[in-house]
Amino acid sequence: MCGIVAYLGNKPARSLLIEGLKRLEYRGYDSAGIAIMNGKLHVVRAVGRVGTLEEKLDQLAARGEYDGTLGMCHTRWATHGGVTEVNAHPHRDDRHGIAVVHNGIIENYSALKTYLKEKGHAFSSETDTEVLAVLIGELYEGDLEAAVQAALREVDGAYAITVICEKEPDTLVVARKGSPLIVGIGADEYVVASDAAAIISHTTHAFALDDYNVVKLWRAAGADGQMVYEFRTSTIHNVPVTPKIEQLELDLEQIELGGYQHFMLKEIFEQPQSLRNCMSGRIDAKDGKVTLGGLANFARDLTRAKKVILTAQGTALHAAMIGRYLMEDLAKVQAQTEYASEFRYRNPIIEDGTVVIAVSQSGETADTLAALHEAKDRGALALGVVNVVGSSIARQTDAGVYLRVGPEIGVASTKAFLGQVSVLTLITLFMARRRMMSADHCADLLREMEQIPAKIERILEQAPRIKRVTEKYIDRENWLFLGRGYNFPTALEGALKLKEISYIHAEGMPAAEMKHGPIALINEGMPAVFIANKGRQYEKVLSNIHEVRARGGHVIAIATEGDEHIADHVQDVLYVPEISEPLSPMLTVVPLQIMAYYAALARGHDVDKPRNLAKSVTVE
Ligand code: GLU
Repeated sequence: MCGIVAYLGNKPARSLLIEGLKRLEYRGYDSAGIAIMNGKLHVVRAVGRVGTLEEKLDQLAARGEYDGTLGMCHTRWATHGGVTEVNAHPHRDDRHGIAVVHNGIIENYSALKTYLKEKGHAFSSETDTEVLAVLIGELYEGDLEAAVQAALREVDGAYAITVICEKEPDTLVVARKGSPLIVGIGADEYVVASDAAAIISHTTHAFALDDYNVVKLWRAAGADGQMVYEFRTSTIHNVPVTPKIEQLELDLEQIELGGYQHFMLKEIFEQPQSLRNCMSGRIDAKDGKVTLGGLANFARDLTRAKKVILTAQGTALHAAMIGRYLMEDLAKVQAQTEYASEFRYRNPIIEDGTVVIAVSQSGETADTLAALHEAKDRGALALGVVNVVGSSIARQTDAGVYLRVGPEIGVASTKAFLGQVSVLTLITLFMARRRMMSADHCADLLREMEQIPAKIERILEQAPRIKRVTEKYIDRENWLFLGRGYNFPTALEGALKLKEISYIHAEGMPAAEMKHGPIALINEGMPAVFIANKGRQYEKVLSNIHEVRARGGHVIAIATEGDEHIADHVQDVLYVPEISEPLSPMLTVVPLQIMAYYAALARGHDVDKPRNLAKSVTVE
């Protein structure tokens, strides 16, 4: 969610910061701001795009005030206070020339604000962040690092912050709890950001902060007069910490458009290759064996598991729901799915032998992270299924499996969803083989999995036709997505994709549920997308299609290649290649992704920057 970039080095900070901020635009935000230290603190803020901030800055920069080599910038996704320039970051204290940018929420900001007002401090914004800036100022006694540590000891909530102070013009202090922050270490420069994407064009040498870590980065003239760059890491209680410096595994090509109009389209088309990467080295179709290095030490626990709880939010929850069907159907283990946000606060019962699997693209989803902590506290074995290597969920689980689908920039998740379903299928088969599934059965499914990338390629070839079908219905404001069994979650995902980027109201539900109420909504010409591939419930789905048709609804069916018969019953058919039912969502979802993309495009929306949405939701 939103983004932070900060710089301390030997180059002019301004253009470098703006370039970094542009790389984080995909995360979703509503306003932006920058602070540069150049003798004094210079702050510019703007509502809207980073481009607007840049224009403002360019006009002011002619005066030379923004030429410093220490600075920080921010894209805000408003939580406390409206989307206004006054509420945009950086926020300043009222005494010492301290500036703060912040991702997250200070939960006890109200009590702190009352306390600080009593002490005579003044506030100009409605944000929780300004309270933190003023608190740091209140506690400042000539040492910024100590003041930040002291302030953070008083704070409840989540934060990634970077802080600078006019009185220490060669120091940058950064800290985190709950929201991600990475320090990139270059030659005579540091780039700090909430996302590796803003760092890799400068350095790949970096470390991620752990919760409650504070890093002071500074420069000072050495004996020979040359500037020496140093840093130290500690906790908010000033206990020294040794950070684990690693190489960032991300290359620039992966986070650029490469000729596509949008990241979402690029990522939809990348899916065959992403899945090949995801499965590579993990599948042995000849012997019916799945190798998951991350789970090797926990094979016994998984074999004996009594219950699996899959927890997630949004698209990842839909992947988790498919995971549940897979686990029960193939691994014969009791499984349930849970909105992480609900699970966390429900007083859940975790018995011996419970495995909790947290699913998240970013690995930073605050709700999912909180659910994970709850599950661990109650004694569950905690596994992670995440895409971003080294993310919070990856680090805080007992074990896990990475998606390996490459960075996902499009806010509407596509390739990560497929990666999640595919990893959950592999985990299921890993367990199933150790429980009772025969090697032959497993080998059959694995052979089919290996064919999925080529089958998706065949669906992608139909994109122009899918576009035409979508455009027929583009003026309709209400859509239904219906499926059964393994493809009930696919229906939910199809509806979510359409909502997210085209802002069309869509409902996904089990096809059978429709007649228990939602059928009242159906009127002449209402589009209803049915996932009607060949499977155990095919005939039942056909009956549901008739129920919609009888009331004037227009049906778009996602059907299995060769099923000519269905075309007689519906307005439009989009075909997917034949595949066993448990694996079918990995194909049926693809036309739905393409439909959502073209619907948004036809309605003139910015597909990669949907309104109000953020890519990784780091607040609860
Ligand atoms: N809670 C802060 C605000 O509303 C920070 C939001 C963010 O993460 O951008 O300003």
